[in-house]
Amino acid sequence: MIFLGPPGAGKGTQASRLSDACGVPHVSTGDILRTAVSAQTELGRKAEHYMNAGELVPDNLVLDLIRERLTEPDAQSGWILDGFPRNVPQAEFMDQLLAEISQPYDFVINLEVPDEVIVARLLSRGRKDDSQEVIENRLQVYREQTEPLIEFYRGRQKLVSIDGNRPMDTVANDLQSLVRA
Ligand code: ADP
Repeated sequence: MIFLGPPGAGKGTQASRLSDACGVPHVSTGDILRTAVSAQTELGRKAEHYMNAGELVPDNLVLDLIRERLTEPDAQSGWILDGFPRNVPQAEFMDQLLAEISQPYDFVINLEVPDEVIVARLLSRGRKDDSQEVIENRLQVYREQTEPLIEFYRGRQKLVSIDGNRPMDTVANDLQSLVRA
């Protein structure tokens, strides 16, 4: 499963709950990158200023990371991707990678939440990249680079839209019904 949706839509929360329920790993490129930044690895040092500015980290830094993660033993019976792909080149890379390693995806979830709700949620979360100015940039980057993926996946008949502006448990129940159906 792949989660799309703006920052603050609840992708991380829902992906993590579904990962526990289904027993497949939750793969969050944001979490992987934040861990790399904390540890000040080479990847982390290269990624840090893009993340603090609310820009996407360059594709070459994330593509290898995804290839490595999806070929780990625990990812062979499924995975829930959160935060990847985030632009058309990443989605094209992903199609190619999955063909290469013979893994399909079943669903692309578009978690829909209105802008004003997103901004309120992110401001209350208070992560380092959750200042008003950086949030606005992340939303703009989302609109320009990530939102086109909705049409990309609609064209592949994989897209399911879910209203993310409802209580967490309600959204979680909808997602569980979908994977059980
Ligand atoms: P959110 O969806 O709330 O913005 P994430 O944790 O998914 O948070 O991402 C945080 C930051 O990590 C992004 O703003 C971006 O800088 C970087 N990032 C995460 N995933 C990717 C990706 N697939 N490609 C490029 N940059 C990424």
